[in-house]
Amino acid sequence: MSNTPNSSNFIRNIVIDDIESGKHQEIITRFPPEPNGYLHIGHAKSIVLNFELADEFKGKTNLRFDDTNPVKEDTEYVESIKADVKWLGFDWDNLFFASNYFDTMYEKAVLLIKKGLAFVCDLSSEEMKEYRGTLTEPGKNSPYRDRSIEENLALFERMKNGEFANGEKVLRAKIDMSSPNINMRDPVIYRIAHSEHHNTGNKWCIYPMYDFAHPIEDAIEGITHSICTLEFEDHRPFYDWVVRECEMESVPRQIEFARLNITNTVMSKRKLKLLVDTGVADGWDDPRMPTIAGLRRRGYTPESIRNFCREIGVSKAYSTVDSQMLEYFIRDDLSTKAEKATAVIDPLKVVITNYPENESEILEIPADPKDESKGTIKTTFSREIYIEQEDFMEEPVPKYYRLFPGNEVRLRGAYFVKCTDVIKDENGKVTEIHCTYDPETKSGTGFTGRKVKSTIHWIDAKDNVPAEFRLYEPLINDAEAGNSANFLDDINPNSLIIKQGFMEPRIKDAKILDKFQFIRNGYFTVDSKYTTAEKLVFNRIVPLKSSFKLK
Ligand code: ATP
Ligand code: MG
Repeated sequence: MSNTPNSSNFIRNIVIDDIESGKHQEIITRFPPEPNGYLHIGHAKSIVLNFELADEFKGKTNLRFDDTNPVKEDTEYVESIKADVKWLGFDWDNLFFASNYFDTMYEKAVLLIKKGLAFVCDLSSEEMKEYRGTLTEPGKNSPYRDRSIEENLALFERMKNGEFANGEKVLRAKIDMSSPNINMRDPVIYRIAHSEHHNTGNKWCIYPMYDFAHPIEDAIEGITHSICTLEFEDHRPFYDWVVRECEMESVPRQIEFARLNITNTVMSKRKLKLLVDTGVADGWDDPRMPTIAGLRRRGYTPESIRNFCREIGVSKAYSTVDSQMLEYFIRDDLSTKAEKATAVIDPLKVVITNYPENESEILEIPADPKDESKGTIKTTFSREIYIEQEDFMEEPVPKYYRLFPGNEVRLRGAYFVKCTDVIKDENGKVTEIHCTYDPETKSGTGFTGRKVKSTIHWIDAKDNVPAEFRLYEPLINDAEAGNSANFLDDINPNSLIIKQGFMEPRIKDAKILDKFQFIRNGYFTVDSKYTTAEKLVFNRIVPLKSSFKLK
């Protein structure tokens, strides 16, 4: 894929320097998700960065499943991640599983033991915490730190053979308990977990820790630039230590950038899984979820997500991006791609009392009021039509120019109508309104006799197809939800609004994910889950307008 080159950023500059200085002839990046959930828009930032960077410099990008933790991982996630990366428009050069390197990782751990750089420790995790010290106080050496190399080799082998229970022993690097960097205070590199692994089954009962595994994975694959998020900055000394002391041939360079946060959005697979497991979300692909699957079902296009990721850029400074910026990019993409059509959401019946009964006419309505080349659409008009509830007020507020008793408006592409009567049920709810129309005012005839202040859209009451419309608001009320631990207390109870209505018969054969701009209502797509052979269900992707401006 190469449409838009990466805009300048500090990582790209590092790559350029490394190529110009001859340090690397070819760059290799990787996208290394842990298969413990579905990908979200934050991952998209990393995907776009890694793939487009390699692409720009004719390098390679691997998709690597970082599956070193047997407990939380699942093949469902592996498959969804592959599908999502492809859908975003990227193709990996190699597909790898970190678990395929378990043999090498084990050998490297043995090498560290032989070099006197790793030891088996019997401290419990609580004790280890006590020994670790704090940011201001140095830690203390473990009493097991001085075990002989032979004893360590024998114990590590017995760990591998399953002779100990979970938590009974760990393998630790032997570095410096007084290092100002806590990550260098004899970090754990292997732990015991008697759990079946989705790829290696029951072959292993010891598993490498992320900080030990990741640099080895990168080095094995010859990754030149290992791009990760800023939380790992303090882990970089240990990353470099592992590459050096494990005597890896290839030396990858870790580079950190600030992760993406978006207002009103949780951005972590673990938290998103909670939303799914508690039923707050209707699955990982709920259109309100910031997952790639959710955005796809909501109606986002790969182009809009890629453009968004390019625009937010790459830096070392934390910031939270306004969710309206993502909406900006889908509007921008769909403004030329989505077909215009008419739908009446939340309908109100209008009877045109002076229009002959049992008669109808075909009107030619411009398909796109702003683009004549799109031609016209043939639309039935008759005595009974539907308008939107919102386009009528029995007691209008100031500056309300749409329909109210005594007021006249234009029906888009049809006639002027004036409201004469309001019909209510026994509870006082308006059930239909009566209007008269003026045949002189027919659209396209050049009528200039008088003006009205408002044009509203409508659909014929007989010639239409019913449809459901799902309108969305943010799932979470709090703008800073991404950082809040108790985001579950802040769920927006009105994030899904389901409305019924009617659409033009012309679009009744719309397919799943087809996109439309419904006049005055916004961009919509056909929902993949609730649409049936009998009824189309539309998701509103975004409303038409926003006050948001790109800087
Ligand atoms: P999560 O907490 O959602 O699981 P993670 O960072 O643990 O996120 P991984 O699957 O381990 O997720 O990440 C795969 C890659 O995606 C990593 O390189 C990580 O840096 C990147 N990534 C994850 N979240 C973001 C984000 N919000 N912004 C940018 N990159 C991200
Ligand atoms: Mg993770």
